[in-house]
Amino acid sequence: MDALNKKTIEDIDVKGKRVLARCDFNVPLKDGEITNDKRIVAALPTIKYLMENGAKVILCSHLGRPKGEYKPEFSLAPVAKKLSEYLGTEVKLAEDENVVGDNAKAIADELKDGEVMLLENVRYRKEETKNEENFSKELASLADIFVNDAFGTAHRAHCSTTGVASYLPAVCGYLIQKEIKFMGGALAEPKRPLVAILGGAKVSDKIGVIANLIEKCDTIIIGGGMAYTFMKFLGHSIGDSLLEADWVEKAGEMMKSAEEKGVKFLIPVDNKVGKEYDENTEFMVVNSDEIPDGWMGLDIGPKTEEMFADAIKGAGTVIWNGPMGVSEWDNFASGTITVAKAVAESGAISVIGGGDSVAAVTKLGFADKMSHISTGGGASLEFLEGKDLPGICALADKD
Ligand code: ADP
Ligand code: MG
Repeated sequence: MDALNKKTIEDIDVKGKRVLARCDFNVPLKDGEITNDKRIVAALPTIKYLMENGAKVILCSHLGRPKGEYKPEFSLAPVAKKLSEYLGTEVKLAEDENVVGDNAKAIADELKDGEVMLLENVRYRKEETKNEENFSKELASLADIFVNDAFGTAHRAHCSTTGVASYLPAVCGYLIQKEIKFMGGALAEPKRPLVAILGGAKVSDKIGVIANLIEKCDTIIIGGGMAYTFMKFLGHSIGDSLLEADWVEKAGEMMKSAEEKGVKFLIPVDNKVGKEYDENTEFMVVNSDEIPDGWMGLDIGPKTEEMFADAIKGAGTVIWNGPMGVSEWDNFASGTITVAKAVAESGAISVIGGGDSVAAVTKLGFADKMSHISTGGGASLEFLEGKDLPGICALADKD
């Protein structure tokens, strides 16, 4: 699949057409109120483009996990209300327990050019996550064109992300277009040197990403909890630090493969270690071959911060996934802050993926310094692993 070659909403004529747009309105709710509406805000450019260009817009999304059954607490009603406020026009919710029911059909039939409606939670239907033909066909029957703008679910082959594209001309919206441009661009034709920074809790989560990036990067930086599995391979004692014993050999293979390919592979030379896994635990700095028993690495140390910052300085492109330590805790956020600063100051094209990484970069105040913050945790990982995402594969290629 060539993700960079997919058609977008600007490549087709939407005037007077009924356009089914799959968005990511999977917003957090508390007592029926939306507590964070950034996903709704992020979807507005595509919706507005469709409205302004005379489409009859039919929006759909999942919300939470109703597990294939109608459950009122998972209704998209709060989203319809919020969308109506942002768009300054009523966005009617089709209140069908089966999503594509009499209400949806009637409202869709009456839509005028530039008007918007919203279907109910697509996961009310058990067929949705199994990508079953009948529900895909029902969704397609409402529209003339399909637009996918839900990057966060693009790695799932569901009816509303992939199945429906078999029955309609299918293109991407602005959100997916931006993900493809930055992530696809960083992998396919990066400005060099290309530096990947990988951290977070588990090697096993990221091994596919490391393997794919070794083929493409000039430098790979490893921090966070996963670094201790690499140190273990080098024969260091790692105390009570996170270890995935089953992955030590694989970690070693990665390091050897990097060496063979001439890829610089950096792991921490020192660490901030704590007595316990606790925010206020006693801590000290020790070299990587000197972690005492009874202590655990919770952040990279100052020498490592300098080494990593140095490697990032001259980068042309940076791909970052996974914090350098337990950055949720002030005492162990320093490594992540230093790396975020180095990325921000490098002038490199910077792409940040992963739920916790994005949360850390945002909380630490560096979000607007990055070229691209991916909106999909799992989807961005699979993209970086070099996998084809079904929700993107299903879209039409440019002529
Ligand atoms: P992302 O969501 O960005 O892909 P991960 O989920 O892989 O990142 O990892 C983030 C988690 O890793 C955070 O909860 C963080 O506290 C944890 N973490 C990072 N470094 C360590 C460490 N040294 N020991 C234990 N946990 C760590
Ligand atoms: Mg995570």
